[in-house]
Amino acid sequence: MYTFADRDGTSYTLRPEGTASVARAVVENGLFGGTMPLKLFYIINCFRHERPQAGRYREFYQFGAELFGAESPAADAELIMLAHDFLKALGIGNTTLHINSIGCPKCRPHYKEELVKYFSLKKERLCNTCQSRLETNPLRILDCKSPICREIAENAPKTVDFLCDDCKNHFEGLKSRLKEVNIGFQVDVNIVRGLDYYTRTVFEFISTGIGAQSTVCGGGRYDGLVHQIGGPELSGIGFAAGINRLALAMETGSAYVESDEGPDLYIAAIGENASIKAAGLCAKLGELGLVCETDLVGRSLKAQMKYANKINSAFTLILGDGEISSGSAQLRNMKDGQQTDVDLSNAESIFKTVKREDV
Ligand SMILES: [Zn+2]
Ligand SMILES: [Zn+2]
Repeated sequence: MYTFADRDGTSYTLRPEGTASVARAVVENGLFGGTMPLKLFYIINCFRHERPQAGRYREFYQFGAELFGAESPAADAELIMLAHDFLKALGIGNTTLHINSIGCPKCRPHYKEELVKYFSLKKERLCNTCQSRLETNPLRILDCKSPICREIAENAPKTVDFLCDDCKNHFEGLKSRLKEVNIGFQVDVNIVRGLDYYTRTVFEFISTGIGAQSTVCGGGRYDGLVHQIGGPELSGIGFAAGINRLALAMETGSAYVESDEGPDLYIAAIGENASIKAAGLCAKLGELGLVCETDLVGRSLKAQMKYANKINSAFTLILGDGEISSGSAQLRNMKDGQQTDVDLSNAESIFKTVKREDV
């Protein structure tokens, strides 16, 4: 966590993630009293203390969804489907879903014991961080990025071999549902999600597009969290995704294509009088739904037409004293050069002409 003292010596801690905050909000506002399940989402800023790297900033934005009051694996499946569809809608297609079950308070202590036993024998070779993790949070050694720790972790006891019957059934229930909806997954025993509050299901969507650190979305079940922070026994499951990293995955996955589309219409105006009329016409056409631009910097007619070309406007219209007194002007289709005579007092018909031909 990012904790620091300000000028008065007051200690501040900036939130590193959103799930605990949402759980606290549920408790403080008594949201557990209504109809279950409770489905919530959030978009927040968070802070990390570690040195920023590609796509990872000191202050970052996170989007997340949480589901409270449903213990069934159907809830886990629904939430994973939501994350899956969300990534798909963003065009982040090259991801694989990794799932694991890390057990419950009944079966995990035994597993933890075996894990500590295993890693203690190899303590000298673990990285410094993992040596202290051995005391504080041995599960996290499993997802250490250091190559040596990874190699040691390969033969470590696996959570899935230590699950109690309830946890085993729950995990099988999730897998059956994922198969039913055709979401491909692989059981990855090294996915543990670092946070203490997780129980049973943990999952990550891993993208192959943005290098080694490639989790674009992750989450899990946290059945003990609400109670732990002073609320009732209330199960929960959720996922979160860093918005900056999603954007990066969209770019590298070429899902995001910058549009070179210009406005629907550029109105060139000659002189102050025409400029005033152009402003009025732009406003009317804008209300009807056209994206409309006119000159704001006092360019000559020639420069205005050059500008209209540069911004890739679909149509242009030239307004001068002649057009204003006759009440009509030439609407020019920039693609084929075709001109149509339009009635300047009839914005509706200008709108229709642009929309009809702009296909
Ligand atoms: Zn269990
Ligand atoms: Zn390590």
